[in-house]
Amino acid sequence: MKGLGADAEYWNALAEGSLKMQQCSGCGAWHWPAVWRCGECGSWEQGWHEVAPRGRIFTWTRTWHDFGWQAKGLPYVSVIVELDGAGGKRLNGVMADAGLPVRIGQRVTAEPWQFEWEGEAVHGLKWTPVGDESEREA
Ligand SMILES: [Zn+2]
Repeated sequence: MKGLGADAEYWNALAEGSLKMQQCSGCGAWHWPAVWRCGECGSWEQGWHEVAPRGRIFTWTRTWHDFGWQAKGLPYVSVIVELDGAGGKRLNGVMADAGLPVRIGQRVTAEPWQFEWEGEAVHGLKWTPVGDESEREA
């Protein structure tokens, strides 16, 4: 799915296998969701920068009910991840392995992934835990 809005660069980068986040060229503020104009300084100049897909879990939920996202399999774990870069902006995604324990604050890294949805390729991030096994909790 190609983006058409202010976030087009984000979706296009994901489709090509990388994560890019928006940063104001005027004042350096990071933006997500993407904006056309910076709310901090008023600049219309917004740049896109590759950011490592690493961070920590801000919150999560495990879903057992089929809402029509069979492509994800059941159950699946949705996460909101606070990025290490990009001013700590938060992105959503799914955990690669829904059976692993998950906890708020857990360190994670992601790989781009895609699935078909109503005939179109949808791009997202699949997150996996990183770091010391002893940090994991149920
Ligand atoms: Zn700005």
